[in-house]
Amino acid sequence: MILPASALRALPLPALLAIAPLSSVSAAGAADAQVPGFQRHDIGTLRVTALFDGVVALPRQQLHGLAPGQVARLLDGRYVPESADGLQTAVNAYLVERDGRRLLVDAGTAQCFGDALGQVPRNLAAAGIDPASIDDVLLTHAHPDHMCGVLAADGAPAFANATLWLSAADAAWWLDPAHAADAPEMVRPAFAMAQRAAAPYAARGRLRRFSPGDALPAGVRALDSRGHTPGHVSWLIDGGADAQLLVWGDIVHYHAVQFARPEASYEADSDPAAAIASRRRLLAEAATRGWWVAGAHLPFPGLGHVRRDGDGHAWAPVEFAPVPR
Ligand SMILES: [Zn+2]
Repeated sequence: MILPASALRALPLPALLAIAPLSSVSAAGAADAQVPGFQRHDIGTLRVTALFDGVVALPRQQLHGLAPGQVARLLDGRYVPESADGLQTAVNAYLVERDGRRLLVDAGTAQCFGDALGQVPRNLAAAGIDPASIDDVLLTHAHPDHMCGVLAADGAPAFANATLWLSAADAAWWLDPAHAADAPEMVRPAFAMAQRAAAPYAARGRLRRFSPGDALPAGVRALDSRGHTPGHVSWLIDGGADAQLLVWGDIVHYHAVQFARPEASYEADSDPAAAIASRRRLLAEAATRGWWVAGAHLPFPGLGHVRRDGDGHAWAPVEFAPVPR
């Protein structure tokens, strides 16, 4: 809406004062800045805040199981931004507020992927959330784009009062340097990063290595979705009838390809066959049950639904809307 000058003259003084900060923003040079990277959505009784960490470039050559021509055809007309380094891929984390409890699912890259990423802390601040108010950090897996963000720049826990939940299988793998030699070369730096991130929580008795069947925060289940990592889990959070939210982690890296062709795997997968099986199972289950989905590497805010599309599936993104106060 643009107000004509005559309308401005007619406005009472308080209204003019309320307009003033808008013009001072552009005067301060903020016209070059992006809007803060957070977005709130109410899903049943859950309030979900998507938090943007930045983007990475994933080369199409690291997508395996399809011929390059098939990949090119799937990407054709999808307009995914692509540089010489690869296809633009978002990194997202999710704050879920449930029944007075604040759950953060994954935490972004912090310093691990350079200065262009690591935006979760600033976006959490922009959303008005105090990191000390987070009760639980639920990790989908121990890769640095999900786990480095549990640390502040000084190496202390970024979430001073939170319990850090990591699956026992991922903890056993990534917190043991002896396994690095057996891992794909591109993920070997992840071992040291995971150990560094977990250490201050473990030292404070706040690292919980959970196994299937263990008690978890109320309303939360960890679904085994191993393959991308040995202990990858997807978090199913109960928001009441018709409001189940699956924060699925790294089930899809190449959204323009893997919804349609889940048999395409990613070079960083620990066990490509298991990753493919997990992707097929969760795509089908999310579509059949109508679950909400939050995806760490889907275009921000990465919230929406999975729908069937021919022999495969497709992504139906959320629509932006106000949230009730
Ligand atoms: Zn990831």
